Amino acid sequence: MRISLPLAVLAAFLAAPACNKAPALSGGIDVKGMDAAIAPGDDFNQYTNGAWFKSNPIPADKSSWGLDAVLADETRQRVRDLIEASDSPKIKDFYQSYMDEAAIEAKGIAPLKPALDAYAAIADRKALAKAIGGTLRADVDALNNTSFETGHLFGVWVTQGLEDPDHSYPYLMQGGLGLPDRDYYVSTTPQMTELRTKYRAHLEAVFKLAGSSDAAARAARVFDLETKLAKVHATRTESEDVHHAVLWKRADLAAKAPGLDWTSLLEAAGLNDAATFIAWHPKAIAGLSALAAKEPLDAWKDWLAVHAIENAAPMLPKAFVEESFNFYGKAMEGVDQQRPRWQRGVDLTNNALGDAVGKLYADKYFPPETRAKAQAMAADLVKAFAKRIDALAWMSPETKVKAKQKLDTLKIGVGYPDQWRDYSGLEIVKGDALGNFERAGLWEYHHQLAKLHQPVDRGEWWMTPQTVNAVNLPLQNALNFPAAIVQPPYFDVNADAAHNYGSMGAVIGHEISHSFDDQGSQFDAQGKMINWWTPSDFEHFKAAGEALAAQFNLYKPFPDLAVSGHQTLSENIADVAGLMDAYDAYRLSLGGQPDVVKDGFTGDQRFFISFGQSWRSEEREAALRVQIATDGHAPAMYRADTVRNLDQWYPAFSVQLSQKLYLAPPNRVHVW
Ligand SMILES: [Zn+2]
Repeated sequence: MRISLPLAVLAAFLAAPACNKAPALSGGIDVKGMDAAIAPGDDFNQYTNGAWFKSNPIPADKSSWGLDAVLADETRQRVRDLIEASDSPKIKDFYQSYMDEAAIEAKGIAPLKPALDAYAAIADRKALAKAIGGTLRADVDALNNTSFETGHLFGVWVTQGLEDPDHSYPYLMQGGLGLPDRDYYVSTTPQMTELRTKYRAHLEAVFKLAGSSDAAARAARVFDLETKLAKVHATRTESEDVHHAVLWKRADLAAKAPGLDWTSLLEAAGLNDAATFIAWHPKAIAGLSALAAKEPLDAWKDWLAVHAIENAAPMLPKAFVEESFNFYGKAMEGVDQQRPRWQRGVDLTNNALGDAVGKLYADKYFPPETRAKAQAMAADLVKAFAKRIDALAWMSPETKVKAKQKLDTLKIGVGYPDQWRDYSGLEIVKGDALGNFERAGLWEYHHQLAKLHQPVDRGEWWMTPQTVNAVNLPLQNALNFPAAIVQPPYFDVNADAAHNYGSMGAVIGHEISHSFDDQGSQFDAQGKMINWWTPSDFEHFKAAGEALAAQFNLYKPFPDLAVSGHQTLSENIADVAGLMDAYDAYRLSLGGQPDVVKDGFTGDQRFFISFGQSWRSEEREAALRVQIATDGHAPAMYRADTVRNLDQWYPAFSVQLSQKLYLAPPNRVHVW
């Protein structure tokens, strides 16, 4: 991934400005946003973005602000206009039912009552297994967008088998927590301890709002149960390791994860006919199943009830929405103000009817000529990457052959999928906000389960066209570049090559290189999990990576805090590789001719400035500290300085030995 995605559970609560007018978006370099008083060799990020930072402080209700945030806001506004003008009753009714706060208020919690009553009536473990099975949804993703946790007891992800690219499998993942992952339950830091106190209070408040008796006792039972669930969960590092996953036959569920009535669970989950599963978290699945047999039935019933309310919260009356925001927005993210309702409504509609809205977006904002031009640029990037593989000194000839095969079959999706999803089977009822939301979640789940009986579609997309991001899909040997990122300011059909290759080109190069890095080396041209590198290839790759890790370890945004070079290594390698690939492709696109001088800058200067500006983003201290602690991506300001590893950057800006970003030639990292 190019940038990290916020936790899905929090996404609906994160703040955005109520009145920030987005600056006009266009391609080409932003000369006014630069700070000419800063030497590019001292601080390339400030040189390319300093004036913009000064005149665009982070809005009071945002934790960060920059190019991608501006573009995401602008895209959301466009989507709102498209929804409101749409002649699709499904899209309009979904959005308007959510926006009709008065109707939602009038119904109170009544729409959720049947589910809550059913949970209260559970009398034995068989009924519990059935209820748990009925809640399962396709709400996790082990490899593409990597989201490892769900509030349901298990997450289901349907895609190609790790070692069988010709068939789809249900992946079973751990779940059941109301906090983001196990660390939140077991860590003893003061911040986590305080957060747990607030979470217990939140659970109690939710039970009270729902009119339950003994709210405090129920909250305590749920918290106690979730803590036990958390203790059997895999850590984030374990979740990231594909080699922890195992293939389980249906009978293995009961044999290797005894406790749950699996037959009842699978039947209720619509997984009755699945013969084989990929247990992504085998130890955790066994642990959760044992707890389902052992822990008091009442605790499980309360847990089901409170999770049902939490899931439904966006579609419930204001008191529920505010309680959710107070915990997940304020306490957890430090955000003061809730986003305007229409923005949350757009996001929820995007989630429910992603392709239907995405088609409207692509039709209006992503014309065929833009797609064709971006596809041609991507083809240049692939060509340039192939040349770089040929020229690698450290890679063995046999590995090079396999790398070229993988590159030849890499499927690059630009803008939108070739096949749009058909939502005709999804029932959207005007005035039934919660029902629509639940039916959409179930429809998506059934859509995913149906893949178990269909040929594998390597052209499947995992991001909607209206998403400002990009993703590498290891099992499909494919990449997705949604329309919303292949647009100004990242890419503009009217801008020159220096801009487009320096900005969007480097994004494409970044994703291409992920297919050939520490993760990409574990999946071959067909998407099959097999290590196609020799041990000595790995050694050389690791050695080159160490130098880059050392470079990033020296970046310190605060005197007491440094970036972790190892935690961010894969992404930093992808940045260097992507920029080098983009530079080669840019030169290739000029056909050997020198580029013109424009805005007072040479082509090489504009290429690098565009790259620096593509990383234009500032973060609040608290958010920056969280990112450095938990994220695989380095802060944007350091990603802009990736330029110092390219030999061509030095003459372009006459960078001197005495300047801060100067690296002696042997210290410039060239992994690819
Ligand atoms: Zn990445």
